[in-house]
Amino acid sequence: MLTKSLFVRLTISISLLVILFLTAPFLNAQEGELNHAGNPVAALPAEFPEEPPFTLPFAGPAGPDTWLLSQSYGNTVGAFAQRRIFYHAGQGIHFGLDFSAPCGTEVVAIGNGIVSEVDGRHGSAPHNLVIDHPNGYSSLYGHLLQTPDLVPGEAVERGQVVALSGDSFETCYSAPHLHLEIRDNHHWQAFNPVPLIQADWDSLTLAGSFGANFQRDLTDPRRWQTIQDQPSIVFGGNLLNDYALTWPPERGAR
Ligand SMILES: [Zn+2]
Repeated sequence: MLTKSLFVRLTISISLLVILFLTAPFLNAQEGELNHAGNPVAALPAEFPEEPPFTLPFAGPAGPDTWLLSQSYGNTVGAFAQRRIFYHAGQGIHFGLDFSAPCGTEVVAIGNGIVSEVDGRHGSAPHNLVIDHPNGYSSLYGHLLQTPDLVPGEAVERGQVVALSGDSFETCYSAPHLHLEIRDNHHWQAFNPVPLIQADWDSLTLAGSFGANFQRDLTDPRRWQTIQDQPSIVFGGNLLNDYALTWPPERGAR
């Protein structure tokens, strides 16, 4: 049984967490502020910059032997199916881009920055990397093959090889892919990387295995149906896609 003091302490801790999540999106980085990794943080622009500030996480072109876009950021059919499990923390949204690539494909930094975490507390297993960028964004590279040969605090340049891609199941034949996220420097929010990365997204969508694979809310069926138009998420926020009427039908539903 819970003792009264433990119950009170738990209630206070949970309330503080709720307050953090509720206030996080309204807080803005202050001048001279450092994040959890000790790196300086910058305030985010109010809107996505007109000129995308980042480039793709691979040096070479897309193709069947190199890498392809395999799952978009956002309201995908796969994220909807797993909204209460894997993607619950990200409001039910796939909060990164998946690029299928053979294990060991070289991953490059999408912009200049400072290494923030190497196999740190954020990211996708088995290995991951976070880079803080001076424009207020951080990039996260997940499901890496091995621990990146970098240390927190180290400066990296756009296009520099920073990691090797791996497999979320650690087999190199199950689901070899890179999971790429763009967050704010504090890791409160994640953003659709598509408007933030210079690339020919139409061609990448055509060539990849993704297609127009977004879940529909039948009360607003056109919302969040393209790779460009996808919502930012706040970690710990409510589900954005807990649709009452939806297509494709929920698995297991009649
Ligand atoms: Zn992913």
